[in-house]
Amino acid sequence: MKEKIVMTRAIILFALTFSSPAFLIMEAQSQNDPKLTEVWQPVPRVVTPGTGTAPPSDAIVLFDGKDLSRWQHMDGGPAKWDVSDGAFTVVKGTGDLRTRQAFGDCQLHLEFRTPLPVQGEGQDRGNSGVFLQGRYEVQILDSYNNRTYSNGQAASIYKQHIPLVNASRKPGEWQTYDVFFQAPRFSDSGNVLKPAYITVIHNGVLVQDHVEVIGATVFIGQPRYQKHNPREPLVLQDHGNPVSFRNIWLREL
Ligand code: MG
Repeated sequence: MKEKIVMTRAIILFALTFSSPAFLIMEAQSQNDPKLTEVWQPVPRVVTPGTGTAPPSDAIVLFDGKDLSRWQHMDGGPAKWDVSDGAFTVVKGTGDLRTRQAFGDCQLHLEFRTPLPVQGEGQDRGNSGVFLQGRYEVQILDSYNNRTYSNGQAASIYKQHIPLVNASRKPGEWQTYDVFFQAPRFSDSGNVLKPAYITVIHNGVLVQDHVEVIGATVFIGQPRYQKHNPREPLVLQDHGNPVSFRNIWLREL
């Protein structure tokens, strides 16, 4: 009986306290407290940005102007493309290059230059390409006054997505690609749990806005996914044209 009285008193006291004008004012004030919506954890780690397009402090530098030590041919042999003047250039017929290291989700910066004097037309002018995970091609082409199919011009996701605009510079001028890539995810049995997504900025201009990759790039027919490792090398294409590259770096995400 005594316990019940104590309990009842406690409930009354509780009710009086939390319905009192003073408490209600305090409550209203705390609702307006900007601190309530401040989030302090986690703390983003510090990355020192590069000057201009120089790599930030956490980037993996894939080419620093000196050598192709981070690259090899598809057969595992040493890279035979030509290195000179702080850049390297496709040597026709030697085949594609791939990175020795493999990558998943990433931010990639790459600079390329299509050749002068201009030779060829359409797909035969300044053609190369950067293949994310060795499969998903962001087309490199001289698309300055050079008509070809729109889903095969510079900065297209080859035969999948037309670039939003043509931001190409003239042949002989250096151009930049900044690529943001989300790798596809597969189930153990090989089903696509999540497709790949690509965003591309060409010479500072957004040209691919988080587009869904339909599958591995193919020249003929419909692209399809086939399960692969979560990390795969980056590949540069030898399409027989002397396209040059410099300042290539990548951040793993
Ligand atoms: Mg190509």
